[in-house]
Parts: sequence; structure tokens; C-alpha cells
Amino acid sequence: MKNGHQKTVLVAGGAGFLGSHLCERLMADGANVVCLDNLQTGRRENLRKLEGRDGFTFVKADVVDPLPAKVTQMRFDRIYNLACAASPPLYQADPEHTLLTSVLGTQHLLKLAEASRARFLQASTSEIYGDPESHPQPESYWGNVNCTGPRACYDEGKRAAETLCFDYDRLGRAEVRVVRIFNTYGPRLDASDGRVVSNVVSQALAGEDITVFGDGSQTRSFCYVDDEIDGLVRLMEYNGPQPGPVNIGNPAERTILELVDLVLALTGSTSEVAYRPLPTDDPRRRRPDIEKAQRLLGWQPSTPLEMGLRATIAWFEARDGAPGKRRGEGLRLSA
Ligand code: UDP
Repeated sequence: MKNGHQKTVLVAGGAGFLGSHLCERLMADGANVVCLDNLQTGRRENLRKLEGRDGFTFVKADVVDPLPAKVTQMRFDRIYNLACAASPPLYQADPEHTLLTSVLGTQHLLKLAEASRARFLQASTSEIYGDPESHPQPESYWGNVNCTGPRACYDEGKRAAETLCFDYDRLGRAEVRVVRIFNTYGPRLDASDGRVVSNVVSQALAGEDITVFGDGSQTRSFCYVDDEIDGLVRLMEYNGPQPGPVNIGNPAERTILELVDLVLALTGSTSEVAYRPLPTDDPRRRRPDIEKAQRLLGWQPSTPLEMGLRATIAWFEARDGAPGKRRGEGLRLSA
């Protein structure tokens, strides 16, 4: 382990897309990793490279419930909270559970951090900014969230979790770091997740219609998973005074139609675009201002979208068979 001391790290939500990449990175850095997940959207398959290895433990538990004794009896140096379904159709399937995952789950994990004297990193989100009136979004922007809409269970839960984190930090109960994650993609994005990159890649490879919600002129800024994970670890290990929330995302902004065109070109697919209604409260545009991450952490993304998409497409192909032969199994769409 770098710096001599071998860290013991808890990753809540560790079997998910981001969580499993984070567990791998932490194991590669020499940490003991305890992965906690209720497997609602996470999958044991995501941990295939880690299970059975010394220093890696999987615990199945839901952070909404009191944490299991085998976890509370341990002492952690670091606690990462990535526990929450993040895809709109999946987090809207049980909105009460989604809200409580962020509120009660974060409280349970903060209490564990307090007892352990562990540093705590909360995976917050660009959804904090809602449908933003300020563009790009700096951390100082307070956001434009509809607190009664179908996205509120996720957005308001994450906002309340940030509140809890900064109160614990102000009161000296735990040292916290809060990262605001923007749209991230890469290998292991679940084809049934309903998100735009996984849907478009699955549909293009299967030769099915590409579902574009609205007219496709809305924008997102897509960050490759390895860049995102590096930003999370750098923020956790940032040793200065409380930095406040930090955006980690790729500022290269694209319309959804630009993303579709790129995927069609990279896959050589002849799929057609099928337009569907825009979901309620779908943000018009999103792009991180990453000046703070650059200045404090020396971080910026290094993977261009085309390169990241090539890796993602290759992963989907390897998992599901040759292009044109698979049928996007398990694909679930929100519209
Ligand atoms: N989207 C789309 N087709 C899909 C899935 C999503 O056009 O099959 C759109 C969606 O309406 C949104 C954008 O792509 O405008 C990103 O959606 P995603 O669910 O990936 O992320 P989020 O809305 O949480 O940023």
C-alpha cells in the first residue's frame, strides 16, 4: 500500500456500475475493500474479478436498514457512499425507497464514519442542479429542482444527503467529501438500465430502432468511467480544508442526436431513429464547470467520447455476441 498503512475501505453500492469500478481501483491501490450492496441494481457479476481475492469482502445489505453487525463491528479508514439506483426508470420504480436510500442510508453510513473516524465520500449528482438556468453548472449554483415531480425522489434525496454530510462535517462528527457526478458511461453499464448510452449502444448493435426522447436536441456531457473513478479517489484523498461539493464530469457537451450519430458511425449500424415523448422534468442541458476539480485536485478527464464509446461498444459486443446477432436482451425502456 502506498504510504505504508493499508487502508480498510467500505464501498456502499459497490456492486453497481461505478461502485464495481471503484472497488477494483481501490483493490489495485492495495486497500482492503468491503463491498456493501442490496443488489437492487448492482450485480454480483460486476465483482467477478474481485470475489475470492484476499482483502475483498462482499456483504449483501440495504443501507435503508440498520447496518449489519459484521460491518458496524469493523473499523474503516474510508467510506464511499454510492448506494442508490441512478437511472430514472429504475429509481422511479420505487420512489419511496429511492428517497430513503439517500436520506436514511446516508445517515446510517455517516454514523458508521463517525464511530470509525473514517473519511466519508458522498456520491452526489448533477441532478442537484435540476433543469439548470445557469450554464455550465458551477458548484455555487443552487439548482432548479421540481420537488414534486417524478425525479424528485432521486434529486431531493441527494440534496438532503448533501445537507446531512455538511452538517456532520460542520459539527466535527465526520470529515466529508461530496462529489457531484455527471453522466458517466463505460463497460458494465447495464443494458436494462434504461440510460441513453446503454440503450443506444444496445439498440445499434441489435439493429433495432434507436429511441430518442423528445427531439434529441437536449444535451448531456458524458464522462468515461475510469476518468470519473480517478476523480472520486482524488477527492477522497484531498487533504486540504473542507472543499465543499466538487463537480466531476466531462465538460464536452453533446446533443443526444450527436451521441446517436457517433454510436451509429462506430458500430456501422443501420438502425433508424424512433422519436418518443420527452420524460417529465428531463433537463434541457447539462455540462459541468470543472474549474474547481482542476484547481484543487489537478483532475480533468482524459478520455475523448469516441475512445470511451469504442471501449463501451467492445464490452457490449464481447458480452452479448457479434454485432447484429443479439437482440438487446433485458432491455427496458422508460417510454
Ligand atoms: N434518452 C433518450 N433515449 C433513451 C434514453 C434516454 O433520448 O433511450 C435521453 C433522456 O431523455 C435524457 C438523456 O437521454 O434527455 C440522458 O438520459 P439518461 O437517462 O441517460 O440520463 P439523465 O437524464 O439522468 O441525465
